[in-house]
Parts: sequence; C-alpha cells; structure tokens
Amino acid sequence: MAEHCGHARYVWNLAVEQHSHWRPGRKSAPGFAEQCRQLTEARAEFAWLRSGSIVVQQQALKDFTQAMANFFGETHKRPTWRRRGQGEGFRIVAVKAGDVRRLSRNVGEIRVPKVGRVRFRWSRAIPEGVKSYRVTRDSAGRWFVAFAAIPESLPTPGTGVVVGVDRGVAVSVALSNGEMTSAPTLRETEKARLLRLVRKLARARKGSRRRGEVKAAIARLRARETDRRKDWVEKTSTGLARRFDVIGVEDLKVKNMTRSAKGTVETPGRNVRQKAGLNRGILAAGWGRLVERLEHKAPGRVVKVNPRFTSQTCNACAHIAKENRESQADFLCVACGHQANADVNAARNIRDIAAGHAVNARGGDRVAGPVKREPQHDLLLVG
Ligand SMILES: [Zn+2]
Repeated sequence: MAEHCGHARYVWNLAVEQHSHWRPGRKSAPGFAEQCRQLTEARAEFAWLRSGSIVVQQQALKDFTQAMANFFGETHKRPTWRRRGQGEGFRIVAVKAGDVRRLSRNVGEIRVPKVGRVRFRWSRAIPEGVKSYRVTRDSAGRWFVAFAAIPESLPTPGTGVVVGVDRGVAVSVALSNGEMTSAPTLRETEKARLLRLVRKLARARKGSRRRGEVKAAIARLRARETDRRKDWVEKTSTGLARRFDVIGVEDLKVKNMTRSAKGTVETPGRNVRQKAGLNRGILAAGWGRLVERLEHKAPGRVVKVNPRFTSQTCNACAHIAKENRESQADFLCVACGHQANADVNAARNIRDIAAGHAVNARGGDRVAGPVKREPQHDLLLVG
C-alpha cells in the first residue's frame, strides 16, 4: 500500500509540474483525458510504473483534475507538490459487490488491487452501494479507509428559527444567541509534552534512530489534535442542522483570508504579524470543513452572506464604524452605546442578513444585492 501511495504521489506531482509550466497566452495544460493517454504511454515504457495499479494512478490524475476545478472555483488553494510522508493516500474505484465485506461486528474487509484483502475496524456505518474508497496514511503512520458518502441530510426542526454563525477570533464559533464554542486543541500537559519533544528533535542527530522516534511521537500528538477537531466539526454541524431551520454563515473564502496577510513583493501586507496570528486561528478552527459539513447535513438551509461590515456594524442601531470595535473581543457602538461581545454582535448581523435572504427566497424573488436590515417578522430569530 505504501507503494500505491508512492505511485499516486508521483503521478500527482507530474500533473502539478505540467500545470506549473502554463503561462497566460500558452496552450492550456493537458486535461484529464490527455493525461490518461500519457499515463498509458509511460506505463508501456517503465516497468516499475506498470507494476503498480492503473486504477490508483488514474485516480491520482482524477483527484488532481478535481483539485484544479476547486482551485478555479475559488474554494480551495492551488494544488501543490505532495511530499513523502504527508497526506499520503490513494483512491480505489470500480468497486464491485463483495469488494467491501463485513466479517464481524467490528471487522470489515476491503479489496485493494495488487495487494489483496485488507481488514479494517468497522467503526461507523458504511453506506450501501459504495462506489469508491480512499486509503490514507497519516503522519503518525496509521492507515485509514474512507468511503465516499455524503452524509444524509438531517430533518429540519420546522420552527422557522434562523441562526447566525460567526467564526470568531477569540473563539472558533459564535452564535447569534450568544453561544460560543472553540474547537478543541491539545491539553496543557500535551502542549508541554509537544514542546519538550520539539526541543528534543532539534538536538537529535539527523538520521539517528532517536530522531525518528521523536518525530513519530510528535506526529502522534498532532494526529490526536486533528482527530479531536474533526470530531468537533461533526458534532457542531449536526447540532446546528438539528436545531435551526436557516443557518447564516459568512461567505468567506478561507483561501483569500489566508493569502492576504503576506501580500506581494511589491505591496507587502500590512500588519502581517497580527494577521498571521488571526489566520492561524481561522485555519485551526477548521472553518471550511464546518461549512462544508453544514451544507451536507442541512442542504438548502445554509445561507452564505457577504461578510462585509458584519464585524463593524452595530446590531442595535445599524451604525457602521471601524471605531465600533473596541478590541478583538468587545463591541461598543459609538453612536448608541450598544455593548456586546464582538463575535456575537457579528453573528447577529449575519443572522439578520440570512433571514432577509430566506424571506426573499420564499417570496420567489432572488435578491442578490444589498439586503434590508429590518427584522423579518415571520421568522423567529435567535438571541
Ligand atoms: Zn449602535
């Protein structure tokens, strides 16, 4: 399976290289069909590539095509080089009946081309009629199998309640009803241990056995943190989808937010240091993943609103001013004196805009422009 990972990485990196040569005015870089043809040629020529699975190699190209589509759709960053030991994995398609079997309550089995049958821990429900699965290996060396399935949408509570969700700075998520939660991180003792390990790594000789052990221990700690975050995203998105009819979120593109801080060589970004800190927080909160899961679990009930001014507008009197934001955490309106948690105030603005969108959608007119800020009486707002 490590060999499959290596082949997938190799083919992916070739695709990255092909596309990196493209400049405006040049003929477009090869698409999926052309890349598949080239792969067939390469396999005919090189025995080591031919010895691998064509399904694995073609799917790496398919994944790359999808990654480029996501990039042009502005939802993801441009696909980059894959390195050994980071995000390793491959996808299996053309799954036949019997390729996925349950052996007992806790044990299942999948078929992996050129490898045979591989057992896995049956830790959650697997959907009927699986068409593909992805095998991955995390940096801690654990192997996983994931079955492509969009989670079933959750039932609408039917109460007409609209909630605004803001990704906070101090907290990961603030709701318009005042609830605030943060994605879990490592515990203090774990953080201290991580710090000790990082120092140890700096002292360890390159290529030594000890260095390898320290590296693995660091990877295990980081994997633990990632697991907790993913779990938090699932629970939070399920809770929101179950409790609220309409969920307003900022239409922020993680990519744009994370890119702006650095600026360019000609116009270096201002406040680079503060922004870098903020960006880390945003990424750590797994915001993009949360919105994605919300859209799966509450399809058609997630309203993405333009985040412009949502953090500077007073929710009580609609006065907009930069000075309204006293600090990262506090909001104090310079016009009416309204005081609130800054993230909650922003969440309420998001809720009001989302409620406006929902009413307009119900009335049959799709209004894309500025939205009325008056409260909408036929929808119950939270907070
Ligand atoms: Zn005000």
